[in-house]
Amino acid sequence: VRTQVAIVGAGPAGLVLACVLLRAGISVEIVERQTREAVERRARAGLVEHRVVEYLRAHRLADGLVAHGVRHGWCDFLGLGERLRVDYAARAGGAAHWVYPQQFLVRDLIDALETAGGRPHFARPVTAVHAPAAGRPRLRCPGLVVEADYLVGCDGQHGVTRAALPAAVRDDLSHRYPYDWLTVLAEVDRPVEGVVYAVHERGFAGMMPRTAQLARCYVQIPAEDGAERWPDERVRRELDARLRTAHGGLPHIGRLTDIGVLRMRSTISQRLCHGGVFLAGDAAHLLAPAGAKGMNAAVADAADLADSLVRHYHDGDDAPLAGYSARRLEQVWRVQAFSDWLLGLLNTSTTGAGDVRFDLRLKLEHIRRLAETGPFSTDFAHQYAGAGEL
Ligand code: FAD
Repeated sequence: VRTQVAIVGAGPAGLVLACVLLRAGISVEIVERQTREAVERRARAGLVEHRVVEYLRAHRLADGLVAHGVRHGWCDFLGLGERLRVDYAARAGGAAHWVYPQQFLVRDLIDALETAGGRPHFARPVTAVHAPAAGRPRLRCPGLVVEADYLVGCDGQHGVTRAALPAAVRDDLSHRYPYDWLTVLAEVDRPVEGVVYAVHERGFAGMMPRTAQLARCYVQIPAEDGAERWPDERVRRELDARLRTAHGGLPHIGRLTDIGVLRMRSTISQRLCHGGVFLAGDAAHLLAPAGAKGMNAAVADAADLADSLVRHYHDGDDAPLAGYSARRLEQVWRVQAFSDWLLGLLNTSTTGAGDVRFDLRLKLEHIRRLAETGPFSTDFAHQYAGAGEL
């Protein structure tokens, strides 16, 4: 098959890119390893930034999100027996998140793609990507070879596309944090009203809204701990100990599902293109998983690349495509700096000598400033909510 743009991976990045290009009259082939049912069931992110929602709205891709998502503009920090509310939407000029599970967004995007005439190839793992420095790139999967003007790897951090780019071109920069997070979906007896971050001497714990019956919870654990060391009862005990406050008020946690470990590492490639091959989303950068930035950055990459490709095909203007890598890296590093700072605030130091309460008391001081009005909390609010435009 010959096409203008080939896309590997039908996650948020690949699907947004495919929808925008197809509606602009550009031919697209999108190839996904998993079945449609599997990608529509994969529960991961759930907080969509203000600027991403605005972009999706402008491209008529946010109908389901606006109809069924919940607008969310504050978060609570628990620490040393205090509960401090950060009303970030008020400080970010009304910019807020929308709570909408990633798998619902993915389902909506697949529907939109089909309505626009797109026919995604599901259950076709790409086994090889040919990424020449000059000339047309190509992908191969069972029963299909696609040759394209441009090929975009939206196939995540372990995808084949980034592996096909020379390591010297990508020049990955990586960081390993000295702890991991256990992640779990918890049934709750009523909806979680807002994001809760607990800083605690036993380590960080967090609870994020997802649906009326489900919350996503996180528990800081020692680096390299395996999920098998965390049976339900132990997870429940830690959540209870770390999230309990003098004020209480959190939903009761019922059955736990989807227990896994998030290895806390970041990798950012220093170049996101090579010849006609581009990287977007997790394939280009695995961001520190604090502040709910991964999916949002993935859509932001797709939005930039879609606009650049439209300018190329419609106006013959190649400058935007040539600037994609530098433009996106500038934004991505800004987001990474924010997430890295937030991780430092949330996680209890596992290396420092001395009294852990010293660390907690310092954290509380930062959190107090986040809860007060002033330039510190205003800057946090804008970055956290993703104020402004993509
Ligand atoms: P993906 O969603 O990973 O999609 C890549 C696609 O490529 C997949 O469908 C995969 O099957 C496919 N693929 C891979 N290899 C091949 C191949 N060889 N051939 C064909 N297809 C292939 N982010 C946030 O913004 N907010 C959050 O609250 C948040 N919470 C998270 C919670 C969890 C537990 C996890 C794991 C992640 C979370 N993230 C969050 C991160 C977010 O989910 C990712 O950053 C996001 O999915 C990236 O989108 P993507 O389109 O780049 O990649």
